[in-house]
Amino acid sequence: MPAQLKGSKRDDAGKIIPIREVFTQSDIDRFWAKVQTAGPDECWLWTSACGAAGYGEYRICENNIRYRYRAHRIAYALSVGFPEGHEQEDIVIRHTCDNRLCVNPAHLESGSHSDNVRDRVERNRSAKGSKNGRAKLTEEGVKIARYCMNELGIDHRVLAKVAGMDPTCFRKIKDGEMWKDIA
Ligand SMILES: [Zn+2]
Repeated sequence: MPAQLKGSKRDDAGKIIPIREVFTQSDIDRFWAKVQTAGPDECWLWTSACGAAGYGEYRICENNIRYRYRAHRIAYALSVGFPEGHEQEDIVIRHTCDNRLCVNPAHLESGSHSDNVRDRVERNRSAKGSKNGRAKLTEEGVKIARYCMNELGIDHRVLAKVAGMDPTCFRKIKDGEMWKDIA
C-alpha cells in the first residue's frame, strides 16, 4: 500500500507540531545531507525532491504516512526557529536571494506576504545601485550566525569576513559573551 502523503504533522487537536519537535536528530542529519552547502554567503542548493511551487520538499515517514515540508522552512526552523505558536503556515519565509531551492539560513527571513512582494519590488529597483551598506546584525542574524557556527561548523572568521564585521564579535556570539539573551 503506498504511503499516504500529508502536509505538516499535526497533533490530535489539529495544531501543527513544530518542526523542532517532530524531527529527530537522524531526520535533521538526513536533511542536511541533501543540501549542497557552500560558502556562508552563497546559495545552498536543495538537491532532493521539489514541490509544485518550485520549492525544495523534504519528507519524513511515520506509520506509513509521509509528511512533507518545504526545505527552506526546515532550515529556518532549525536555525532561527518560529516564534511560539506560529509554526509553519502563518509565517512566510522569504528568500533574500530569490532562489527557491536555496536553504542557506542566511538567505532566509520571515515576513508577511505583503513584505514579500514589496521586498521583491525594492530589490529589483535597487539592484543596480550600491545600497548595501555595512551589515548590522539583527536578532535573526545572530541566531543564524550561531547556528552556522555551532551546528554546521562554519568558522567565525569566515562569517565575519562575509558580514564585513570584526571576527571578535562573531567569536563572542559563538561563545555566548554577546547577545546571550538570544537563545
Ligand atoms: Zn540563496
